[in-house]
Amino acid sequence: MNPLNKRPILDGHNDTLQPFYLPNKTQRPFFEKTNIGHIDLPRAKVGGLGGGFFSIFVPAPRFANMEPREGEPEEGTGQNRQVNVHGVMNPVEFSYAHEMTKKGIEALFDLEAKSEGRLKIVRSMKELQSSLEEDRLAAIIHFEGAEAIEPTLDSLAGFYAKGLRSIGIVWSRPNVFGHGVDLRVQGAPDQGPGLTRAGKELAKACNRLGILIDLSHLNEKGFWDVEKISLAPLVATHSCVHALSPSPRNLTDKQLDAIKASDGIVGINFSVRFIRRDGKEIPETPLNELVRHFQYVADRIGVDHVAIGSDFDGTTILKEIGDVTGLPRLMEALHQAGFDEEALCKISFKNWLRVLSATWK
Ligand SMILES: [Zn+2]
Repeated sequence: MNPLNKRPILDGHNDTLQPFYLPNKTQRPFFEKTNIGHIDLPRAKVGGLGGGFFSIFVPAPRFANMEPREGEPEEGTGQNRQVNVHGVMNPVEFSYAHEMTKKGIEALFDLEAKSEGRLKIVRSMKELQSSLEEDRLAAIIHFEGAEAIEPTLDSLAGFYAKGLRSIGIVWSRPNVFGHGVDLRVQGAPDQGPGLTRAGKELAKACNRLGILIDLSHLNEKGFWDVEKISLAPLVATHSCVHALSPSPRNLTDKQLDAIKASDGIVGINFSVRFIRRDGKEIPETPLNELVRHFQYVADRIGVDHVAIGSDFDGTTILKEIGDVTGLPRLMEALHQAGFDEEALCKISFKNWLRVLSATWK
């Protein structure tokens, strides 16, 4: 590891790429320090971010033109407005999602090319490890919802060749593969049917290729389908604890136990709506409320199964963290709460390395 950063943080989820590929979103600088959103390269360095999952999300077409709201990107208001009159997210069409996703990948390659070696798209453990050691920001390509892939899975191998290493089968809306949980404040994740036949084939194909299957946003029946099918550790890249905050986006105790049994991992989400018991969007929520989710998972299933899944640039996060530069404040709070140096190393990056190593080919 880089001696200046003994505990680089690997982060299970960010939406930082969106302004770089969504039409009419104002491009923002990535290589100079700003106060826009949560992550740019200089702030990532300050926060000790070693790398993470860079999400490519496809909003419904009429929302693709939304202007970013300075300092306040939100899963709750932005994407959440894409509901129909029944409160269900509208599906998006394959060819549109495919094109938009290709633009997202191009945008990340473009950042890599302009980074002068400071950002690297990683496709293997070797590339991930050497990026951490050499202090290059490691970017893992993640699809948040598999709408860019047709039910025959024809384009999956091509996306893999490009660098795709993680897929959320669904975002919080139905697609040809399965059903997501809605983003209502309170409720159980047991909503709707499990994976479709194509969804089960997608899960098997991900195992074959070595693509991580992300369970965040998937409904409960879909979760148990993946649990039955997948040979890889179960992973929720950006979710919290349902017993502490009863959002359908959070994991029940039974789901946490299954994640432990598979030697998997939960990346704890920093969204105030998934942290608070009342689900209210209050940025002034104390940092300790977030720490409780780490403690709960560690107490119930062990510190080997808890990590970070910030949702930076995709949601309203705690004011006390603010942006990526606040990561050291979280680590300090975890330390104060009783996590020792070894536990902090596991939470920061070692757990992710173990799970990715067992998942990628
Ligand atoms: Zn998400």
